[in-house]
Amino acid sequence: MALRDLHLLGSPVLRQRGAEVAQVDAAVRRLIDDLFETMDAANGVGLAANQVGVATRVAVVGTEEDRFAMVNPVIVSAEGRDRAEEGCLSIPDAFGEVTRPGRVVLEALDQNGAPFRREAEGLLARAIQHEIDHLDGILFIDHLGALKRQFLVARWKRDHKGEGLIKTVKPERARPE
Ligand SMILES: [Zn+2]
Repeated sequence: MALRDLHLLGSPVLRQRGAEVAQVDAAVRRLIDDLFETMDAANGVGLAANQVGVATRVAVVGTEEDRFAMVNPVIVSAEGRDRAEEGCLSIPDAFGEVTRPGRVVLEALDQNGAPFRREAEGLLARAIQHEIDHLDGILFIDHLGALKRQFLVARWKRDHKGEGLIKTVKPERARPE
């Protein structure tokens, strides 16, 4: 496993639609392992392949409730409305209130290529939808009103000026040998 660099707002890969995964092979499993490790080190609740520079339909989520990988994920049903604050590892320090369905049913392949179906609500449902958005080149700021988005992006660009579009994630703590 390895930590991967995060792509930040402005990196073109964040606006690409990820390609369907034809086969869950060793390379995809390695990507999944790396996504989990990078998500944990960055204290995230989800991470999509686009965010580490790979435009392919693979993402991971991890909340207190559950933790799993999603390959070629699809929301097959959604209901309710839930409004809560969201952030994104690709837009550090920026937050905004996003309204999304509060309950979703997800279908995807797992890290072994086996199909699964999962119902989720609350934070987990939100994380699933946020990550699938990434695979379609959509960021949480796209769900904000135009004025709010412009304000947030302008402030973010000002605060992160000169930092580049790639961020190296540092290990959370020294690992025992
Ligand atoms: Zn994100």
